[in-house]
Amino acid sequence: MALDKIPVCVIPGDGIGPDVMQATTKVLDAAGSGLTFVPCEAGEKSFAKGLLTGVPQETLDLIEKHRLVLKGPLGTPIGHGEKSANVTLRKIFDCFGNLRPVREIPGVQTPFSGRNIDFVVVRENVEDLYTGIEHMQTPDVAQCLKLVSRQGCQKIARLGFEVARAENRKSVHCATKANIMKLTEGMMKDAFYEVAKEYPDIEPKHIIIDNCAHQMVIAPEKFEVVVSTNMNGDILSDLASGLIGGLGLSPSSNIGERVSIFEAVHGTAPDIAGKGLANPTATLLSAVLLLRHVGRIDIANQIENALYAVYANTHKRTADLAKTGYTQVTTEAFADAVIDHLQNVNDFIHRDFKAIKVPVFEAAKATQDTRTIGADIFIKSCEGPESIGRALEGLSTSTRLKLKMVSNRGMQLYPFRGELPDMANHWHCRFEADKSEMVSDDEISTLLNEIGQKYAWMHIEKLQMINNAEGYTRVQGEN
Ligand code: NAP
Repeated sequence: MALDKIPVCVIPGDGIGPDVMQATTKVLDAAGSGLTFVPCEAGEKSFAKGLLTGVPQETLDLIEKHRLVLKGPLGTPIGHGEKSANVTLRKIFDCFGNLRPVREIPGVQTPFSGRNIDFVVVRENVEDLYTGIEHMQTPDVAQCLKLVSRQGCQKIARLGFEVARAENRKSVHCATKANIMKLTEGMMKDAFYEVAKEYPDIEPKHIIIDNCAHQMVIAPEKFEVVVSTNMNGDILSDLASGLIGGLGLSPSSNIGERVSIFEAVHGTAPDIAGKGLANPTATLLSAVLLLRHVGRIDIANQIENALYAVYANTHKRTADLAKTGYTQVTTEAFADAVIDHLQNVNDFIHRDFKAIKVPVFEAAKATQDTRTIGADIFIKSCEGPESIGRALEGLSTSTRLKLKMVSNRGMQLYPFRGELPDMANHWHCRFEADKSEMVSDDEISTLLNEIGQKYAWMHIEKLQMINNAEGYTRVQGEN
């Protein structure tokens, strides 16, 4: 019986994109996937027309309408103000979760072959250091804001557990650097354990991110689902792809509440574009993820099984994998080989899949007990800490805010006894009132004016007590 038609926006992409996309849609059609392809433009052609986002409005409208995207890689021209069209799409449609399944492909030899690697990296995709909020603090000191929200952490943690449920897995790791970044990465860890209570059938395990990278190489078979914040997940997921043969074989999905985008991890590889040399595996596996996402599990399994059968039972390989003993075939011929195996009974998929239930964002609660008790003021100076500390004490006389310490690159240097380390011309000056009192904005303004008589300040951070706990961290050496 013919399946209902599901429209999918298809962006062929740049470089090898059209090659691998054509091969993929050919297999999808041959498998009777029921997907109908709505062609959309983005990337280099759009940039060439002068569109700095790389994504025409018509494409955005079609995506808004159909909500599913199968995408080829998009090139980003360097240096004319153009933004990455990939990032534009993920941000506009708030695709908050990046899923990177990492499964050993039978017949693709790697140093890890036979280890039964089969896990999913679930990376937060819109927050963290990649919000791109950066400022030069002085001509010599740059700063990047790491912004993490509790709701964003809860949502990605929940997605991790939903992936585990959809794939019948028993544990979820959360990899963080909460031991150092206690508030940002710590929020991810706390949210993870909070959300874990909703999934009593799945074991939550926290792991420090660097140990996670180490364990992924030493014992990758012990991971089932790994959740993390954006940048950590970015690095971890590429490491994970390396375990199973590299980025060229790795699919991904960018999950949003309304729109989800499915794409290979690799780029446009322009040097081999249009020559029949590109490997369509990653794009085909991305289409498999899309099919599972919409609940077409049997067809997804059928295609994945057929692909694995080509690798396990034939010598046909695209140029990238056609080493001695293999027969090099074109991108299209490789797709034809997959199609030839669609009706074979292969069973390389030993997992029950269901469609993933996508979590929704829960708005922050407004009623939190928040009280300002001081301010961190960041100044520029080429003086030493003793001179700065004494001067600040002399300047800050007319409010309840008193200098507590001055630090440089996260190390308290005033008050300080010992040998001074290397110092940048960027100083972090902490002023506090009595913690039981509430400091007003006027007092902070007065303090800023006093300090401004001698020093250039770049930015301030309020020191807040939130639910009676310090909403800030102490620097090294601070009591
Ligand atoms: P890349 O395009 O992935 O290419 C690196 C090398 O990997 C290629 O030269 C090629 O190696 C090999 N390769 C990648 N995919 C392959 C495939 N399917 N089949 C066979 N070989 C494959 O990475 P890049 O050179 O760093 O980036 C090129 C452009 O792609 C840039 O403009 C970048 O911004 C863009 N990009 C886009 C995305 C995306 O759209 N999601 C992701 C990453 C990069 P050989 O040279 O040995 O043939």
